[in-house]
Amino acid sequence: MNLFDSVLEIAKGGELVSSYCEKCEKYVWPPKYYCNYCNSKVLFKIVKREGRILAKGYSNIPGKKGIFAVGEFNGIRIIGTIKDKMMVGESIIMQEIRVTNGRLDIIFVSSST
Ligand SMILES: [Zn+2]
Repeated sequence: MNLFDSVLEIAKGGELVSSYCEKCEKYVWPPKYYCNYCNSKVLFKIVKREGRILAKGYSNIPGKKGIFAVGEFNGIRIIGTIKDKMMVGESIIMQEIRVTNGRLDIIFVSSST
C-alpha cells in the first residue's frame, strides 16, 4: 500500500491526515515519507478541520463538475467542493471527508453558519 492509499483509507473513516514533520512543525502535502524542508522522516498527523479559502474555481472534469475551492488548513493546500457562495479569504471547515472513485472528496462549508 502506498502512502496516498493509506491517506485514503483513513479518509474513509472521516479524518484527513497528512505527513507532518515534528522537527519543522510543518505539514507536508501531498503526503511524503520525508520532509520537503529538512528531509527528516515524517509521520501522519490529523489535519485540523478549520481553514480558509485561498482560491476558487469551476471544474469541468467529468464526474467532478462544479465549484471547487482551494482551502488552506494547517499551512497546506487541500482541494474541496463548496456548495454555498463563498468568498476567498473566508473561514471554512471541512464538513465531510470521504473517498469517491478512489479520490479524496472533501466538502467545505462556511464556518460562520
Ligand atoms: Zn522538516
